[in-house]
Amino acid sequence: MGDGQVMRAGWVIGCDGTGSTTRKLAGVGFPGVKLSERFLLADLRLDWDLDRSGTSGWIHPTGMLGAMPMPDPVSGGDNLWRLIAYDPGHSDDKPGEQEILDRLRQILPERSGRQVRIGEAEWVSQFTIHRRLADRYRNGRIVLAGDAAHAHAPFGGQGMLTGVGDAENLGWKLALVVQGKANEALLDTYEAERRPLATEVLRGTANVTKVNIASSPIGRFIRDRVLVRLFNLAGIQRWTTYTTSQLWVSYRKGPLGGRGAKPRPGDRLSDRTVVRADGGTTRLHAELGGHWALLAPHAGANELETVARQRLGDRLGILRHQDEQTMLVRPDAHLAWRGSDTAGLERWLDGALERGQVSR
Ligand SMILES: Cc1cc2nc3c(=O)[nH]c(=O)nc-3n(C[C@H](O)[C@H](O)[C@H](O)COP(=O)(O)OP(=O)(O)OC[C@H]3O[C@@H](n4cnc5c(N)ncnc54)[C@H](O)[C@@H]3O)c2cc1C
Repeated sequence: MGDGQVMRAGWVIGCDGTGSTTRKLAGVGFPGVKLSERFLLADLRLDWDLDRSGTSGWIHPTGMLGAMPMPDPVSGGDNLWRLIAYDPGHSDDKPGEQEILDRLRQILPERSGRQVRIGEAEWVSQFTIHRRLADRYRNGRIVLAGDAAHAHAPFGGQGMLTGVGDAENLGWKLALVVQGKANEALLDTYEAERRPLATEVLRGTANVTKVNIASSPIGRFIRDRVLVRLFNLAGIQRWTTYTTSQLWVSYRKGPLGGRGAKPRPGDRLSDRTVVRADGGTTRLHAELGGHWALLAPHAGANELETVARQRLGDRLGILRHQDEQTMLVRPDAHLAWRGSDTAGLERWLDGALERGQVSR
């Protein structure tokens, strides 16, 4: 540890960011490319005439500028802004705090076309965009998650979302393995389910980056004249919101997925009202997290409940829903299995927990 302590652990989850020491020590490659030159990032107190009800952005021949209003944790005032500015054409050396502030002093009026009085800085930083994906997500008892496994552009707000999704996917699998309820083969489904999604996110965010930092006349024409108009259309905005929400993510084509009527095994179940054993109503997602859920028809499904509890343990909530079939829902809100016969549920549990592969 940083303070010299030595700790022994059965498993290590490397969630230590893009520069992950864990990943390097595990010998996992992180191939990819640099996509941009430097972006400057700062939380500054500004005196300017800009609407605080939303985020503003400017596309300028010298680079983009974005400004987001931020709550001020220190003064409680309403003049703190998070600024992000592309700043190409400089050396690869990391700029110091003073250089970042000097550049922003120049960039802000130039790109926003407004008069700005710059006050105190709360925080300054810089970053460069890379597109990188870990060769594999696990090496023995070392598992990677979050930016340690995938690095990409911040555009579209996908990084934290993808990392949280990794943790939700890995958490319940690792818990079952550590408790001796599943074989390590179940952990292989973590990479099989999550790495294809990260590949998609990398592709999407790399394309958005190319558009955002385009400097050629054709690239700028497409961005400034075509795409800006397109993104003002309500339908495109709805599509973008849905796409970037990742609420569509499904593992149905993965090793634990299945076919049949929707929702299919592997699909994410949307939140819904369900009934607890004591008759009280609750929301499905409020019952998940660290727990599985067995959604049974109102008539009950005692044998299925017994089978699920035997294999998964006490972290299983029994709930009732308006459906003829029983659904077993994973702690990450994806459908594990649906059906009515105990043999079918046993087959799914055998496949998932013992081999990390269910029959489709
Ligand atoms: C400008 C910008 C805007 C963004 N906006 C969004 C957004 O709107 N939505 C979104 O979803 N994502 C966004 N992201 C991406 C998001 O911030 C990251 O994807 C997310 O923080 C990754 O989380 P992580 O826990 O994997 O890694 P990190 O946040 O990098 O955390 C890793 C942690 O590990 C610690 N650590 C590293 N090495 C060691 C070590 N050797 N010992 C002990 N500790 C160590 C670090 O100190 C750090 O606390 C944005 C990123 C940027 C740069």
